[in-house]
Amino acid sequence: MTNSSLHRADVVIVGLGPAGLLASILLGQKGYQVIGLDRWPTPYPLPRAVTFDHEIARILASLGINPDSDPTIDYHDDHYFWINKDKEILLEVDWMSTANDGWRNRYWFSQPELEERLRGIISSLPNVKIMQGFEVDSYVESSSGVSLTYKEVRQEGFITVPVEGGEVGTIEAQYGIGSDGANSFVRRSLGYDFVDLNFYYDWIVVDMTPDVMPKYWTAHYQICDPARPTTVVPGGPGRRRWEFMVLPGEDPQELAKPENIWPLLEPFGLTPENSKMDRSVAWRFQGKFLENWRSHRSMLVGDAAHLMPPFAGEGMCAAFRDVYNLAWRLDLVLQGKSGDELLTEWSNERRENAKWYINFSVELGRVICVTDEKEAAERDANMIAAYKATLEHGPTNPHLAVLGDGTWDSSDELAGRPSIQGRVAYKGRTGRFDEVVGREWFVLTDAAHSGEALTESQKAKLAKVGGATLTVGPRGSGADVIDINGTYADWFAENNVNHLVVRPDYFVAATANNTDQLQAAFDRATVNLVVA
Ligand SMILES: Cc1cc2nc3c(=O)[nH]c(=O)nc-3n(C[C@H](O)[C@H](O)[C@H](O)COP(=O)(O)OP(=O)(O)OC[C@H]3O[C@@H](n4cnc5c(N)ncnc54)[C@H](O)[C@@H]3O)c2cc1C
Repeated sequence: MTNSSLHRADVVIVGLGPAGLLASILLGQKGYQVIGLDRWPTPYPLPRAVTFDHEIARILASLGINPDSDPTIDYHDDHYFWINKDKEILLEVDWMSTANDGWRNRYWFSQPELEERLRGIISSLPNVKIMQGFEVDSYVESSSGVSLTYKEVRQEGFITVPVEGGEVGTIEAQYGIGSDGANSFVRRSLGYDFVDLNFYYDWIVVDMTPDVMPKYWTAHYQICDPARPTTVVPGGPGRRRWEFMVLPGEDPQELAKPENIWPLLEPFGLTPENSKMDRSVAWRFQGKFLENWRSHRSMLVGDAAHLMPPFAGEGMCAAFRDVYNLAWRLDLVLQGKSGDELLTEWSNERRENAKWYINFSVELGRVICVTDEKEAAERDANMIAAYKATLEHGPTNPHLAVLGDGTWDSSDELAGRPSIQGRVAYKGRTGRFDEVVGREWFVLTDAAHSGEALTESQKAKLAKVGGATLTVGPRGSGADVIDINGTYADWFAENNVNHLVVRPDYFVAATANNTDQLQAAFDRATVNLVVA
């Protein structure tokens, strides 16, 4: 006999990888009834992602996970080098400095341990129900919500099989989130398909735990040797990762066998006597994205919406950005304060932002995955010349990705990007702005321009979404927020603005330098923020 159940929720989340876990937390913390399902009976025990950037550090900090001190996360005071087969430097990327939001440019982590932390947070939210070992096998939308059915499954190797007499059931929810990965069932059920950039390369991903961590000349590097392009990076505390490209004519499954991988590791000093191979697996790196990330009542996030080769370490980062940008919107829509347009704007914003990283990663891949000697020699000569030209001003790590058009003033070059963050004092507390002031819509105004303000109706709009206007300035200026190190003052001066409008996901919505500009820019940024 089969047990059949019916559950109702505000939001149902299909797939509990990093994207689904973050969505469960953020919507759970807002108080919604959330059900999250994953087909694996137990959390997936091996890492895919190993690194994240400063924007993700800022997101994790909002969950109480401090990447600067968390035992599952580390960082390295090294740049990221690309070298050729003769060990000449082709490229140097700044992965060591601190971004202007106060977090380091790069962190390294153990994905299973981080996911365990996220699950720990979820377990403190009684309104979030996690269903592990349940596979979604139908998904439909109606005018008022989504309805899916699931069946209980068990794992056999890399597949799931139904549990005989196990639970089957239905979940009805106001909204559905498809965070079910590259082969997303939700995406296919909605009839959506990827745009394919036709970038396909097979690589072997090898995770290692050395008994004693060897001393490397730099923590992270890319070996652009046409005989075997190779990536060497940290894997979080106590671990390291190697990625070896599968050469034309090689069989990926065969190459991935440990007996074929140990000889590739030996030049790096790793042997079965001094280290443990946690896994060696063949992976197809690819570049794909969805044009539209939402249907009427459903949103696709993470790998369900975009795939990129891991050369920039940005796939999971994009998944986190998708969800962080979505959660505050869905909250407003569920409260009836905002309309569906806010979700359409999310899809536009996220698609263009993710596409930037996909194209960037694919371009990196096209440079790295060269196996022709002559082509590699030409590449090396060009890159060495370009590298020498940069030596005068040092390595950079530019952040060029902007959001697609949406809930921000797209006529403003400073907007659509992550905002700065400084150390501040506010209401008797001192620390990073996010921690001590909050994570809402804010209009931050240089204290010397405190007379320049939004209109009354704009203030009401801001209040409706839980936002506030605050002045920022030095001690003694009478400002609401004390700018301890002058971070905001410097940024205002450098960019010739006096007002900064930020969103709950830290992105800049608008900037201005006088009342007229502020009011006009605020209107442009918030056209669809609230329903009349
Ligand atoms: C080798 C490699 C290295 C990488 N390195 C990095 C890196 O360093 N940094 C980075 O940012 N990104 C990296 N990435 C990318 C990153 O791993 C992914 O982008 C990220 O894991 C995607 O998370 P997700 O939650 O969207 O999907 P997933 O992690 O794939 O999770 C999807 C979940 O959905 C579940 N599911 C699927 N179908 C169903 C169904 N029908 N019913 C119920 N559950 C279902 C699955 O069981 C799974 O748990 C790397 C990727 C690879 C392959």
